Amino acid sequence: MAGLYVHIPFCKKKCRYCSFVSFEGMEHHEKEYVSAIKQEAKILREQGFLEKIQIDTIYIGGGTPSLLAAPTARDLVDSLMELFAIDRKGLVEASLECNPESVNKPLLETLRDAGINRISLGIQDLTSGGLEILGRIHSPEDAIKACKLVRDVGFEELCVDIIYGLPGQDTRWLSKTLVRLIGLEPTHISAYELTLEDGTPLKQLVTKGEISLPSQERSLELTQFLEDFLNKQGFRQYEISNFAVPGHECVHNINYWMCGDYVGLGCGAVSFMGGTRYFNTKGLPEYMKRIQTGRLAFEERETLDIEARFRESFIMGLRMTKGIDRNLFITRFGIDPFKYYGKSLERMCSLGLMEAKEEHSTIRLTKRGRYISNYVLSYFV
Ligand code: SF4
Repeated sequence: MAGLYVHIPFCKKKCRYCSFVSFEGMEHHEKEYVSAIKQEAKILREQGFLEKIQIDTIYIGGGTPSLLAAPTARDLVDSLMELFAIDRKGLVEASLECNPESVNKPLLETLRDAGINRISLGIQDLTSGGLEILGRIHSPEDAIKACKLVRDVGFEELCVDIIYGLPGQDTRWLSKTLVRLIGLEPTHISAYELTLEDGTPLKQLVTKGEISLPSQERSLELTQFLEDFLNKQGFRQYEISNFAVPGHECVHNINYWMCGDYVGLGCGAVSFMGGTRYFNTKGLPEYMKRIQTGRLAFEERETLDIEARFRESFIMGLRMTKGIDRNLFITRFGIDPFKYYGKSLERMCSLGLMEAKEEHSTIRLTKRGRYISNYVLSYFV
């Protein structure tokens, strides 16, 4: 299976924590940009990159894809279906990210009719204070209205993103957001702990000492609270940061964690095809220029040999709560994880951070291991 990712790099205003490829006030270039996306897909096909690729999932992310006008969004989705010979009925999943302040009924109706079946809303927090810290331009009420609108238009898959571990946040505050969130009946929740990315205003504020992130103890307390709360509400944690009502997991992202192939279109997008990863330029003018002059926008590429793919798949696979299947790894890469990682694995298991079940056929992080996953996974890089 393979996924298709399309990056829409437009945002009304840059959030304080954001280091994604996104640009303020450029959305009036949407038609030109969507033409470039279509052109990029054509060039990829002409140059033979798509020969063995069969697309099963689409994910249109950003940036803010909901800034696209309805006709442009329709043109984009229809063109993708045609250019990749996708049968709408056979498509496993087609997601599009929206922000609460820009999502609207005509756009949602158009997306639904075009074959998008999953809306992912960037809610981030449901308190005014939290949204202000993050520099979001929507209010909690906008987010609640947006969720209702998505449901009214008939989308069954409502996915929401939240960020926790905000400066000053305690479990009472997190609980307020979570209780409100559950009331909106999402089918999927991605909950990311706030991280400080270089060059972001939030990092500058923390560096200057104007605000501070929660301590390690508080951060762990918030993570445990979040997991327990969502588990009690019937959400199953299937990846370090992702929870779903069983049966509503994100297939597109599971393909990433399984290190499957994917095609990335757009400024800053990344593709992984046949063992090689391709990185598109992150500059919007450069991307447009390259595509408009008939060239691909790759700025860098890296080819992974079988051992590198094994290691990457091992680390990515451990992000999922079900872990990895040792036998599958032996079949796929010809390498036995227990022999390859022998001592590190034994050590992590003896510390109670990992476990190997069914005569070592399943290898995974324990709950404790998940709480310090960066540390545990660093042993296997
Ligand atoms: S909406 Fe998303 S992509 Fe845009 S600035 Fe905010 S975090 Fe970044």
